[in-house]
Amino acid sequence: MEESFRDSLATVDDAGNRKWVYPKKPSGKFHNYRVLVSIILLTLLFSGPFIKINGNPILMLNVIERKFVIFGSIFYPQDFYIFMFVMAVGVIAIGIFTLVFGRLFCGWVCPQTIFMEMVFRKIEYWIEGDWNKQKALNKATWTPSKVFKKVLKHILFFAVSFLISNTFLAYIIGIEELTSIVTAPPSEHIVGFLSILLFAFTFYIVFSRLREQICTSVCPYGRLQGVLLDEHSIVVAYDYKRGENRAKFRKNEDRAAQAKGDCVDCHQCVNVCPTGIDIRNGTQLECVHCTACMDACDSIMDKLSMPGGLIRYTSEYHIKNESKLKLNKRTIGFSLLLIALTSVIFGLLLFRNKIEATILRTPGTLLQKQADGRWSNLYNYNIVNKSNEDFVLEFKLETPQGDVQIIGDSTVSLAKGSKTSGSLFVIIPEQKNATRQIPVVIGIYNNGKQVDKVETNFLGE
Ligand code: SF4
Ligand code: SF4
Repeated sequence: MEESFRDSLATVDDAGNRKWVYPKKPSGKFHNYRVLVSIILLTLLFSGPFIKINGNPILMLNVIERKFVIFGSIFYPQDFYIFMFVMAVGVIAIGIFTLVFGRLFCGWVCPQTIFMEMVFRKIEYWIEGDWNKQKALNKATWTPSKVFKKVLKHILFFAVSFLISNTFLAYIIGIEELTSIVTAPPSEHIVGFLSILLFAFTFYIVFSRLREQICTSVCPYGRLQGVLLDEHSIVVAYDYKRGENRAKFRKNEDRAAQAKGDCVDCHQCVNVCPTGIDIRNGTQLECVHCTACMDACDSIMDKLSMPGGLIRYTSEYHIKNESKLKLNKRTIGFSLLLIALTSVIFGLLLFRNKIEATILRTPGTLLQKQADGRWSNLYNYNIVNKSNEDFVLEFKLETPQGDVQIIGDSTVSLAKGSKTSGSLFVIIPEQKNATRQIPVVIGIYNNGKQVDKVETNFLGE
């Protein structure tokens, strides 16, 4: 196979200038499925900030105040170990997913692809027409009609970018804070207002200018494909065994007799490609698995009464061995591992402790002997309520026998999502023949039910 395509980028000309990609409007079965999936995902994305679980947002990643809410559960810096674990498991899961299913995520779920192909590109087709009309418009001299189309397109592009920027910020600072920024005069929230504009401008540049360059040159996931994929990975691939030797279609000819393959070299798969590549050259880093070439080729095969699937989801291995893509042990095994890893992530997020307490002996204090002969130590406590419930907490000494006396009150009231701190005494009977550091366990109870347990040390004689 001709390998010269590997020496150049589809979107860069010989002089090193960017070649603008004008993809032909896609249509077909896979495109329709992707439209449906995109509508569902976009609805979820834009409605997400308004959805509350027990009064908390479904997702909020407030890096500024270090407060994170996932599925309505509040996470604090104390949960950092969960975050690290989720990140580690997530990286392994992404690697396994890509090894088995290729760039399925890029084509069907990635916000960059969905916004580019399903929102911005559709606005462009609506205003400027299909690819050939867009090309002609860009070459044409400036007329009132061209100015109108370009201005309208860029106004709509910026409006959508502004909407994305607001949604993006709502996931960071919460919808209430965003509403107060949007409804108040800009002078009262100058930083918030400038942030919205900065994000909007960034999205506008990404979708109006950078486009496929984000996927082919910026996205780290895209760059990692070379090491994540192997010959068994499911990819959008051209069946060269069936397609070659490619040759133009001639009516009533017997292609097989003339050693011609099924590819009629119509270039439709290249024309629709939003990254400007020719998938017939084999799996390439630039392919975002948008399925447009599959639809385009299927429609040509259909017109020529040839079977579809010349470009399809398959693996290099199956093309080489002329076998059908089917579930094998490797796919099932890795998929089960993926499900297990994803369950671990969800389990960690959903079933962590509601209360996180730290109890440490107050620095610089020593053993105190009470009038009744018992011993006491002074401690400082810090408690975080990571749940959506209000708690009235009591402390009990689990081991050894003894009491806990909170300074100021007998219980600690802790509203949902709040923190508190204070001091308490641990009082135990005189310990004869004990080591100087006596281990103690303090139980924390709400309505008689233990919600946390802290192990610490008691300083004896
Ligand atoms: S090669 Fe096909 S699937 Fe890949 S980006 Fe181009 S059109 Fe989309
Ligand atoms: S669309 Fe199909 S037939 Fe046409 S050039 Fe591409 S692979 Fe060949």
